[in-house]
Amino acid sequence: LKDFPIANEPILGYLKDSKERKALEQALKGTASSCEDIPIVIGGKEYKTPEVRYQVMPHDHQHKLASFYYADKKLIEKAIKTAVETQPKWDRVSIADRLKIWEKAADLMATTYRQDLNAATMLGQSKTAIQAEIDSAAELIDFIRMNAYFLKEVTKYQPISENIKVTKNSLRYRGIDGFIAAVSPFNFTAIGGNLSYTPALMGNGVLWKPSDTAMLSNWIIFKIMREAGVPDGVVNFVPADGPVFGDTITASPHLAGINFTGSVPTFNRLWKQVGNNIDNYVNFPRLTGECGGKNFHFIHASADVESVVTSTIRSAFEYCGQKCSACSRMYVPESLWPQIKEGLVCEAAKLKIGDVQDFSSFTSAVIDDKAFKRITGYIEHAKKSPNLEILAGGTYSDSKGYFVNPTIVLSKDPKDRIMTEEIFGPVLSIYVYKESDLLETMKLVHTSTKFALTGAVFGQDEDFVKCALQEFKMAAGNFYINDKSTGSVVGQQPFGGGRMSGTNDKAGGPHYILRWTSPQSIKETF
Ligand code: GLU
Repeated sequence: LKDFPIANEPILGYLKDSKERKALEQALKGTASSCEDIPIVIGGKEYKTPEVRYQVMPHDHQHKLASFYYADKKLIEKAIKTAVETQPKWDRVSIADRLKIWEKAADLMATTYRQDLNAATMLGQSKTAIQAEIDSAAELIDFIRMNAYFLKEVTKYQPISENIKVTKNSLRYRGIDGFIAAVSPFNFTAIGGNLSYTPALMGNGVLWKPSDTAMLSNWIIFKIMREAGVPDGVVNFVPADGPVFGDTITASPHLAGINFTGSVPTFNRLWKQVGNNIDNYVNFPRLTGECGGKNFHFIHASADVESVVTSTIRSAFEYCGQKCSACSRMYVPESLWPQIKEGLVCEAAKLKIGDVQDFSSFTSAVIDDKAFKRITGYIEHAKKSPNLEILAGGTYSDSKGYFVNPTIVLSKDPKDRIMTEEIFGPVLSIYVYKESDLLETMKLVHTSTKFALTGAVFGQDEDFVKCALQEFKMAAGNFYINDKSTGSVVGQQPFGGGRMSGTNDKAGGPHYILRWTSPQSIKETF
């Protein structure tokens, strides 16, 4: 087996007339002109139920992209049985053989299916070409390759054996007896692949419930992994109604873990159900969750204004602010406010919002009707509140797609709900602080929300940076100095946050894989 490279997958540029641009345009045409029928897959067998659902294009919601079926309680139970029965057989497949499958899958994603994955992510989740490329190509491939690399590295560790003529100590990195449920979000195709296939890589049996609004891209991942050689029954593809799925998996005695990315209320619900059923389980289920944030850009008077403006526009508005890491609140010192305000308002006005198939669009529609209503609710709140002033955007329309224009709100109150609640959309709220209140304002960043996912500080002053490292130690799981709060790279900035942002198991880092093993210590005496 050749060594896995530690380098990240290069991101392609999609310039006009480039080879990759032509291939992507071709894939977009193909994907847009058909409506793929996606089955439930359990143990390699396909199922369909009367509960048909459709994935539509968020930027053109009359256009159906795929049909799929909700698994009912019985089918979910069948998938549990299949995963539990498959697990011990799969766990016996050597790590070297599993790595070969993962390597093949990463190669297929990087070549043959790269543009199919990107087209499905663009059309289904309304990402622009470049946002799709960093997600369903580069990040997905990195997750597959690097988790395999991490598996190989972490399993090299073997305990000390003082006298190997008498005693040999060893560790066997087993999967967990039971099944893991992966519940993945719409906003990153790559996260779907990571949540489901990392526990699988470690020797577990998995039920994967993809997001309804990322169904097509996630289905392509499933097909690629199957083609690469993941045996039937290791990962079972189980689209379902959220509460039905949650109720059924948590009721099973064999639940060994939940690998979740989504909202705080859903993760809380699952956690409570696990608590209520705790007497019935074979294992203590491992609960891993990444649940969003209220990410900040904190600007010091010594900051470079141009870099602040560009970074904030990108972090707040790329993919409509629908990255868990997106900046949604900003703290600006009075002395820099006139320049920063002018920069932000001027840049926001230039952003082109449109169809993802138009390669000049900066961003497109938000994911669905529910998101549209939630986000525009905050905009209406801003219009009504005397403490809030809309500086840019504030307009929206859902007649063709769920379009919300990038909106910038100035808040006189740093504790207004627009400054403290997760919006998960293209709304940036700004509080201007007096330089004499620097420390107090820094403390407020941490105490005014329950989240701690990402945060960034901008400043050239070394004392400020030192102070920020101290003050913001607990305020973010991913912390940036003079860079935007989005764009963590697998293997470079392992991702995850603390407090209500999640269990901080650091996806894309070497420790993540260890969440999914139950190692056996063996002492052999000769
Ligand atoms: N890792 C991504 C970033 O740093 C965000 C992942 C997410 O949205 O969950 O931008």
